[in-house]
Amino acid sequence: MALLEIDSLVKHFPISAGFFGRKTGDVKAVDGVSLSVEDGETLGLVGESGCGKSTLGRCLLRLIEPTSGDIRFEGEEITGMDFDRMREMRRKMQIIFQDPYASLNPRMRVGEIIGEGLQIHGIADGAELKDRVMALLAKVGLREEQYGRYPHEFSGGQRQRIGVARALALNAKFIVADEAVSALDVSIQAQILNLLQDLQEEFDLTYFFISHDLRVVEHVSDRVAVMYLGKIVEIAPADRIYSDGQHPYTRALLSAAPVPDPTRKAKRIVLQGDVPSPINPPSGCSFHPRCPFAQKICSEVEPQLEFDGDHGVACHIFGPGATVKPN
Ligand code: SF4
Repeated sequence: MALLEIDSLVKHFPISAGFFGRKTGDVKAVDGVSLSVEDGETLGLVGESGCGKSTLGRCLLRLIEPTSGDIRFEGEEITGMDFDRMREMRRKMQIIFQDPYASLNPRMRVGEIIGEGLQIHGIADGAELKDRVMALLAKVGLREEQYGRYPHEFSGGQRQRIGVARALALNAKFIVADEAVSALDVSIQAQILNLLQDLQEEFDLTYFFISHDLRVVEHVSDRVAVMYLGKIVEIAPADRIYSDGQHPYTRALLSAAPVPDPTRKAKRIVLQGDVPSPINPPSGCSFHPRCPFAQKICSEVEPQLEFDGDHGVACHIFGPGATVKPN
């Protein structure tokens, strides 16, 4: 059953210029994304930086207001929900940010940071609040005596554990992990990923796991969606993406990532240039200026996500919707 469904979600940031602030265009950060996240699964979202992943993650919790489209959580439409109702909803929908250094208030003690949500929502106070925070500290692998310390007294990995405890405090069901381990050393990354997986099992959590690092996403995801310039270009169960990724962008990302298994050799597809500006994305398939397989149709007609079972690809030449043979 889908816990979260999004339909035709769009987030455009207007750009203005001149003395009168005349609107001159839009940054098309999220441009018509539809997908669902099943109850209890981890959906990984990958793509290069600047492709709209974080904006999409924030739109799901309405930390950024979408321009248009629908978001349903537990079957209830949350776009347009009033402030009080949305605040209630957010108890179940939390986010873990990339930078554990910047996302914790340096003037608050750890116990206050973790317990803040419980207090704001009137769930616990006094000794009960402290007990609940202590229990959360233990759950994320921190010690009780660290309750009264400040964020600067912790390592990066420990700070991310504090971020995880804060997200869990209100009994969240759905957590957006936005590059949650990207700022950490590889060995610490593994510890936090293992912690997130243990907590998922214990609390039946659903994750929307955003990362530019395909190997991190592979480690944790049930399904993976690949995003390019505000759109999903491929989505499939994780093993299908990694063994049989079809979209040239997916294959380029995979071929550029280090492969720990020497039997899995991918032909290197070298991407030319950077992600184009989302202010004025290329016509047709927005990947065509960088795609080594591009043909005439690619710059003229935008490919749609076409599915074969649970594997969707948006490409004219590869995948279930292919209408043109490769050159
Ligand atoms: Fe490449 Fe064309 Fe497919 Fe786009 S539609 S990914 S340009 S082959």
